[in-house]
Amino acid sequence: MKIADANQPSPIDVAIVGAGSAGLALAAELKRSGVTRVVMLEREKTAGGIPRHCGHYPFGIREYGRLLKGPDYAKRNVDTAVKLGVEIRNEVSVTELHPQGRLSLFTPSGLESLQAKRVVLCTGVRESSRSQRFIGGDRPLGVMSTAALQSLVYLNGMHPFSRPIILGSELVSFSAIETCRHLGIRPVAMVEELDRVIAQKTILPYLTLRGVPLYAGVHEPKIIGKKHVEALAFVDADGKPQTIETDGIIVSGRFRPEASLLLASHLELDPGSGGPVIDQFGQCSDPSYYSAGNLLRAAETSGWCWREGVSTAKRIVQDLSSAHYEVRGYIRLSTNDPAIKFALPQRLVISNRPGGMTDMQIGLLKPSRGVLKASCGSQCVSVSKINSRPMRRILRPLADILATAPGSDVQLSFEES
Ligand SMILES: Cc1cc2nc3c(=O)[nH]c(=O)nc-3n(C[C@H](O)[C@H](O)[C@H](O)COP(=O)(O)OP(=O)(O)OC[C@H]3O[C@@H](n4cnc5c(N)ncnc54)[C@H](O)[C@@H]3O)c2cc1C
Repeated sequence: MKIADANQPSPIDVAIVGAGSAGLALAAELKRSGVTRVVMLEREKTAGGIPRHCGHYPFGIREYGRLLKGPDYAKRNVDTAVKLGVEIRNEVSVTELHPQGRLSLFTPSGLESLQAKRVVLCTGVRESSRSQRFIGGDRPLGVMSTAALQSLVYLNGMHPFSRPIILGSELVSFSAIETCRHLGIRPVAMVEELDRVIAQKTILPYLTLRGVPLYAGVHEPKIIGKKHVEALAFVDADGKPQTIETDGIIVSGRFRPEASLLLASHLELDPGSGGPVIDQFGQCSDPSYYSAGNLLRAAETSGWCWREGVSTAKRIVQDLSSAHYEVRGYIRLSTNDPAIKFALPQRLVISNRPGGMTDMQIGLLKPSRGVLKASCGSQCVSVSKINSRPMRRILRPLADILATAPGSDVQLSFEES
């Protein structure tokens, strides 16, 4: 094993794992702020992340003031970072995270070890597989995730089916319809196990416009087909068995953070979010590690991840400047409530360090209407109303929680109204 940077003129200030929207925005902002050496490690042949194979609009409106397709947006993120002097190493997989910013890499020329002052984890999300979603039936060809469909269609110019069914109704499921349109085909149905679409209701006219019927509230979806997919069987919302003929199933959404690296590492993992435990500065349990983008939680839009990358870069610049901050203690933020999937940041630092997140982000496990309470023992710290659904962005101010005593354990709970 060789030490990659033994002969390099300057040490690596920040290494970023994953060159998607969050990582690239973060890298560019670090360079803009004068950080000397920023190295990105990307396992794919080309940097850019998920938008690289989302060959549809709308990307980039807030970032670049124009409407871009995913691949153009990804290219713009890459070009900006490269122009600013970011070093991007493609086809390099990070295989292990070690304490104090040391990484093991698998590169085209073999194994390497890399040392950086700070490491930022930006490895994004992936969709749940059919087995993770307990979808029964046969195991024929023609079942794939939206990500697989998009890379077949946009990156390899393939035409995998002509009348697919989309399982799921998140925003990404609508992105799957757009991908089908690119092939000139119309999905025969969108099938959702929850009682209505997961994406905002305002998107429903889009289904009508595209002529895709929606089956919501279905149970027991089962894939049928000997060699290739032939049909999807399920029990509909009225309890009637249904079978729809199809030649492909797109199992879309139900995102999970791409956390394989974390699972085998020394970093603390949050079982709720599936990502790393962070504080309000995006810093992980080992302070030489930060994280940004969808690895923190599944899943936000590209624009959100891009902005999160920029904010995290500013916090890292502040950290690298060796300013001394007085830490008075920590507050733990957690939940045992079955309605709440995750809350982040999971740890709050009480200090005079400026510039941390001002809001916590909450994700629900089921549609919920009621009151969200933050409590410290028997003391109620904050109360706010919630009327939302899973996969929606919910933000609530952190100020009241930050005002509790150092060492507090603040619990979030939900009371249905
Ligand atoms: C199928 C799919 C479709 C989507 N469609 C949209 C859409 O239309 N609009 C939208 O706004 N959002 C969409 N999203 C959400 C998407 O996650 C965000 O748009 C955005 O890409 C998140 O940025 P990120 O930097 O967190 O992660 P990503 O863009 O996913 O980038 C993560 C990068 O990390 C790399 N990586 C992972 N592990 C390693 C490792 N061990 N070593 C080296 N590199 C590694 C990956 O190769 C990848 O390039 C979609 C997501 C998926 C999965």
